Amino acid sequence: MARPTVRSASPRSRTGLVALGGGESVRAPGRVTLVGAGPGDPELLTIKALKALQAAEVIVHDGLVSAEILDLASASARRIDVAKRKSRHTLPQDDINQLLVALAREGLNVVRLKGGDPFLFGRGGEELAVCRQAGIDCQVIPGVTAALAASAGAGAPLTHRGAAQAVTFVTGHAAHGEPDLDWAALARPNQTVVVYMGVSTAGLIAQRLTAAGRAGSTPALVVENASRPDERRILTTLSALAVAAEGLKGPALLMVGEAMAMAQPLSVHPGESRDPSGESEWVPAFAGMNGVFE
Ligand code: SAH
Repeated sequence: MARPTVRSASPRSRTGLVALGGGESVRAPGRVTLVGAGPGDPELLTIKALKALQAAEVIVHDGLVSAEILDLASASARRIDVAKRKSRHTLPQDDINQLLVALAREGLNVVRLKGGDPFLFGRGGEELAVCRQAGIDCQVIPGVTAALAASAGAGAPLTHRGAAQAVTFVTGHAAHGEPDLDWAALARPNQTVVVYMGVSTAGLIAQRLTAAGRAGSTPALVVENASRPDERRILTTLSALAVAAEGLKGPALLMVGEAMAMAQPLSVHPGESRDPSGESEWVPAFAGMNGVFE
């Protein structure tokens, strides 16, 4: 492919324009940075991610990136929303890939900003591969994935001595039918299973796990909008997981495992009910289990 050739010693201006030979200006090759925006709270951005945002000329972002984070970018940066909520696709993945390549070929410093971490259920690998194939420089800046924020916020560790010796991140969503997961392995006790994109398949996941031998009484934590002002937590059990996941609108994780019993409710101001239905979201059924973790 034809890319402008640039003398390596040429000074690069702020706009990416480089003086070549007879004073004519040609854009230097651009680049793409896949940046993890974290789970929503701007304070959970890495310093590297912040610097990349501030230096970006174009930001291609998806729907999980919060407005406060986009506000940290330079005011002059062009923002392109390629929101990819299920059933609200605005741009198919192939088009996003081509968009990144085209923008970089214009010589632009492109930031592809993704919720959480780009390499965890973020299709960052596909975007990286396409850039590599097109000969575009592509770097990756990791982000705090939703599971880490949900677990930290709730005070429920993903691994915990005597209660969770392993943690597995799985997707509850499959393009066709149910996700092809090793249910027997996930059903073993003393481990945490975190399900991304699992709200609509919560019933099926609970059914497969219990059928494979995981106790229906295993603690399960559902966290919606982790690290955001509208975060909600529901502590329940595996057998009641589907009911707990009903009616959730924001991004949510299903976290199943013995250590989830350590989860704390969100602090509620006296006299204020966080639940408009008046029903408690908090099932203190595990109070008696706390001894296991001491
Ligand atoms: N790359 C992202 C995951 C993208 S897949 C990451 O590393 O976090 C989208 C799924 O992530 C959502 O369906 C939901 O399961 C989860 N998710 C993303 N942000 C979340 C948040 N703030 N709270 C709870 N779950 C979240």
